[in-house]
Amino acid sequence: MLALNTATLGHNLDGHGVGWSSEQVIEACAERGLGGITFWRREIGTRAVEIGNRVRAAGLQVVGLCRTPFLTGPLAPPTRQGVIDDFRASIAMAHDLGAPVLTIVTGGVIAGSHSITESLKQVQDIVAAMAPEAADAGVVLALEPLNPVYGGNRSCLVTVRDAVDMCEAIGAPNVQIAVDVYHVWWDTSLASELKRAGKHRIAGYHLCDWMADTTDVLLDRGMMGDGVADLESIRAAVEGAGYDGYCEVEIFSAGNWWKRPPGEVLDVMIERFKSVC
Ligand code: ZN
Repeated sequence: MLALNTATLGHNLDGHGVGWSSEQVIEACAERGLGGITFWRREIGTRAVEIGNRVRAAGLQVVGLCRTPFLTGPLAPPTRQGVIDDFRASIAMAHDLGAPVLTIVTGGVIAGSHSITESLKQVQDIVAAMAPEAADAGVVLALEPLNPVYGGNRSCLVTVRDAVDMCEAIGAPNVQIAVDVYHVWWDTSLASELKRAGKHRIAGYHLCDWMADTTDVLLDRGMMGDGVADLESIRAAVEGAGYDGYCEVEIFSAGNWWKRPPGEVLDVMIERFKSVC
């Protein structure tokens, strides 16, 4: 089952993509027989209920919502209360949209701490505190470990191993992990860690590719098949652990795919999903 993450059309950042409305995205996905869509908060605004209903009326599912605020590090809201308030707003939006999964990107190392361990502990405290509210809203919180290149500013959580450990430490059924090719393609322990996680702890699988000569670690993700990731083996590891949800294409590509007509991007991603994933 294939899903679109709207970041693939540049919808995660201001000033990128061609600016299709949510209605246009829904219609184009439905026409092409996709199963679902994951949205970003910035494109939903105050229209969560309306957009969620529109998706379902088109025969699609809302797969997820990106994302909570950064919880730690230089890009997080400056106070813990600020983090909690925005976390709460993201849960409410997921609920209103009918999104079963809310992605967590943890944020980087706490300024001045020089400590991944201390930063992860702070993330764990906040996620544990918010998990019951998310459960009440019917929302799974998906901890997404990011590629270690982002450890400083965007994610102190950089391995599937640490993400599974955090799930186990929190012990809430609605705290799970998301697996993204861009972040895990290098990890030779992926299959064994996903087995350890098990089906009940894997909330999402995100597709793209890692370009061998990447020009920008944030905004130069590749289309599946254009890079060096072993896509078939990664999917086999995810599905071998029991995951049977959507394969969600999530490509940040300011210099290439975001400059193309969205219909072309969708057509290529569907073809590549069939041929190389
Ligand atoms: Zn992702």
